Amino acid sequence: MKVIVIGAGIAGASTAYHLSKKGAEVIVVDQFHEGQATAAGAGIVCPWVTSLEDEDWFRLAKAGACYYPSLVEQLKEDGETNLGYRLVGALAVSEDEEKLDYVEQRGTKCRAEIPEVGEIRRLSAEEARKLFPPLKEGLKAVYVEGAARVDGRLLRDALKRGAEKHGATFYTGKASLEMVNSIVTGVRINEEFIAADAVVVAAGAWARELLAPHGIDLKVEPQRGQIVHLQVPEQDTSNWPVILPQSSHYLVSFDDSRVVVGATRETGAGFDYRVTAAGLQEVLDEALKVAPGLAGSTMHEVRIGFRPAGPDILPLLGPVPSIQGLIIANGLGASGLTMGPYLGSLAARLAMGEEVELDITPYVPLRFALPVE
Ligand code: FAD
Repeated sequence: MKVIVIGAGIAGASTAYHLSKKGAEVIVVDQFHEGQATAAGAGIVCPWVTSLEDEDWFRLAKAGACYYPSLVEQLKEDGETNLGYRLVGALAVSEDEEKLDYVEQRGTKCRAEIPEVGEIRRLSAEEARKLFPPLKEGLKAVYVEGAARVDGRLLRDALKRGAEKHGATFYTGKASLEMVNSIVTGVRINEEFIAADAVVVAAGAWARELLAPHGIDLKVEPQRGQIVHLQVPEQDTSNWPVILPQSSHYLVSFDDSRVVVGATRETGAGFDYRVTAAGLQEVLDEALKVAPGLAGSTMHEVRIGFRPAGPDILPLLGPVPSIQGLIIANGLGASGLTMGPYLGSLAARLAMGEEVELDITPYVPLRFALPVE
């Protein structure tokens, strides 16, 4: 079985890794677009205390978070250990006690069914600051033990190297899809035709333009995210918990005295790969509001990523019924580093024609397409 994967962000890299481990002949092609979402993602893996109440979203996010330890083990067997993945816990913080009550109740309920959620505990402001020293004084917290963070770039590269070790081949270039009579025959890369039995489109926010020439209207749009990397001199940030201030903003720390703060969610900004004054101001204002202790940190880097956003918060996953050999792995939106590795394992199975354990009906990729008259 020969499968081509278009896109080597987290979705494509994971699909390729799992496919190659199954013994498929795998070719991966990536165009290295500026603004790959995976390269900009913050890396929070903590679906446990979100205010999102969509069961279908939660089912996949939970499976994604719970899949990490197994993936880490699999990659270790392939000699890949540098993933930036660590269970560091999270602090949900707020000045509003009612919001913390909600988080605590939700976390506790979740924990009753999912042991991976770990301990859920209310912390005093002093206890919270011990765990995350730059935090604003007086800010109370709910501690969520089972929260993790991952470095999207490191994980993506480990999956790619892992896939390569199992025989996958990588191409650089723009891929276009080739079809005859509604059957996928392969892809064209820089004028070269490569035949395949199946193609997995994991092309992130760019998938729409890839599929449009074939009359497939995949409703995925770029949602720009601007995210700032701060360097905190001489601080060991490696075990600092993720900070969740009960908004779309957050702070997540990594090993190299780095605290990542973000992010904007700019729907309608298109593929505009720029740091804007308003974006930077929003991100820094929100971060310093909860962690004024970061005011003296060094501005290290600003990253921009285009989240592949569908019309709702659910991913777009599955075969395209009218076309033989075409599988979509997309629409990961703001949770792709949580769901992506697991979703890639599902996409690999679908490409091989295997059954998957999860009911993927809610994620049918063309569920928003208008019926053709
Ligand atoms: P991408 O990573 O964008 O990869 C798509 C790839 O396809 C690109 O490399 C592109 O070059 C390639 N491509 C496209 N078209 C073609 C073509 N025709 N030929 C060849 N190659 C092509 N998720 C979380 O779970 N937790 C977080 O904390 C988190 N924080 C985030 C913060 C920001 C600022 C952003 C932007 C995202 C964040 N996310 C987070 C979301 C997550 O990063 C994305 O959902 C995920 O990375 C999407 O992965 P993907 O593989 O679908 O797309």
